[in-house]
Amino acid sequence: MAVGAPKNIQQTLVLIKPDGLKKSLTGNILTRLSETKLEIVAARITRVSRELAVEHYKFLQDKPFFEDLVKYLQGELHDRRKAMAMVYWGEEAIARVRKLAGATNPEEADPTSIRGSYGRITTLGLYENVIHASTNPEEAEREIKLWFSPDDIIVDLYPTKTITLNHTTSRVWA
Ligand code: UDP
Ligand code: MG
Repeated sequence: MAVGAPKNIQQTLVLIKPDGLKKSLTGNILTRLSETKLEIVAARITRVSRELAVEHYKFLQDKPFFEDLVKYLQGELHDRRKAMAMVYWGEEAIARVRKLAGATNPEEADPTSIRGSYGRITTLGLYENVIHASTNPEEAEREIKLWFSPDDIIVDLYPTKTITLNHTTSRVWA
């Protein structure tokens, strides 16, 4: 039997941003993502509070576009106050999804990538690029823990602990 390099199994957070949902691109985006042959191990449609949007993009808080970016992720620019969050899991998940997503700037993105196909730059100058994808394992861990609880995910990705509140026991990130 041939001995290959050890598999680098990773998880990555993918968001279909409100413009993707408003433009009815959910099915198209999921179809494109299925090219990666990765497994979806968690998915939900959710309201995005200001707190969640700010925390998600906190490393960009000094950028001039930060306030517009927060409003964008909350859906306030599209009258669609929701996003679809998913965890994709499998070999080289982070790089595979990023490659398919394409460059941050939709005008610079490969035209066959998701962002190249469906993104645009608004007159405000904001990149509406229809999806988010984690860039590295540390970012993926921070983001997955932000958007999902342990029991929302069908595989065990990170350590958890059990807490009891008002006689109810639940599992949270350790
Ligand atoms: N963004 C923007 N203008 C910029 C850089 C980023 O509007 O000059 C937005 C864009 O929607 C991007 C998000 O901010 O997806 C997060 O930026 P980041 O640099 O993390 O790019 P990404 O990881 O999404 O490719
Ligand atoms: Mg990023």
